[in-house]
Amino acid sequence: MPGLQHKYAQTALVLATNSCATYCRYCFRKRLVGLPTEEILKRFNDAVKYIENHEEINNVLISGGDPFVLSTGVIKDFLEKLSNIRHLDFIRFGTRVPVTFPDRILEDAELLSVLKKNSQESRRIYVVTQFNHPREITQKATDAVNRLIRSGVILDNQSVLLKGVNDDPETLAELQNKLVGIGVIPYYLFQCRPVKRVKNNFQVPLYKGYEIVDRAKKKLNGHSKRFKYIMSHHTGKIEIVGAMDDYMYFKYHKAHVPENIGKFFKRKINKTAEWLDELE
Ligand code: SF4
Repeated sequence: MPGLQHKYAQTALVLATNSCATYCRYCFRKRLVGLPTEEILKRFNDAVKYIENHEEINNVLISGGDPFVLSTGVIKDFLEKLSNIRHLDFIRFGTRVPVTFPDRILEDAELLSVLKKNSQESRRIYVVTQFNHPREITQKATDAVNRLIRSGVILDNQSVLLKGVNDDPETLAELQNKLVGIGVIPYYLFQCRPVKRVKNNFQVPLYKGYEIVDRAKKKLNGHSKRFKYIMSHHTGKIEIVGAMDDYMYFKYHKAHVPENIGKFFKRKINKTAEWLDELE
């Protein structure tokens, strides 16, 4: 339905807005004109009804675009509506605002108090953010993360592996260590998607990506190496696990076909392939 995807059995993805604080060159999302607030709220009300009627959904990911560019009043309305749904265990926001527009957090005490009120002992709010390079961990970003933590929010990080940006083990290791230092949990490192005008500029071959991740992890302790190298494929979420002899090994963590969940499989190594479909 407009604005909601029942992504996996337990997870509802709410696409709350098409706007972002910055527009990342490597982003795979299509840009549409922003919706008026009434339409956003109407869609959200419809999404809430859907979630209420599907007890198998135990978590909601509010994403976009970037939901933290919405007004605090709209975010408050979202959280109040979701707080009445008993079968939800946790709520996530996918936002780059702590990185790209930390003043949004630092200068809005009301946003922090709305998050604090709704991030309760038994049902936390998670912010899934996206730092891609250690240089993005500025003082302001660090302060914004700190305010979120003090408001009871838990932060995870999903980076994207980007050619010429973070595609070396030292940069990647430094990024994960610094994230742990400021209180952000390393969660995923995504393989850049094969999107037109992004692929040639930013994609790193899968085998090279695996080598970079492997070398970075050798430099990290357990906390900093908790992230998984992941491909968000149209068939599901696939971890790039390793390589041995002539093969690369993969594992489905989530899959649209339920029988595939947890499936471990291999493909012949091709050192130039950048996506699963290019492997034999
Ligand atoms: S903030 Fe997120 S959704 Fe927006 S352009 Fe960047 S990567 Fe894409």
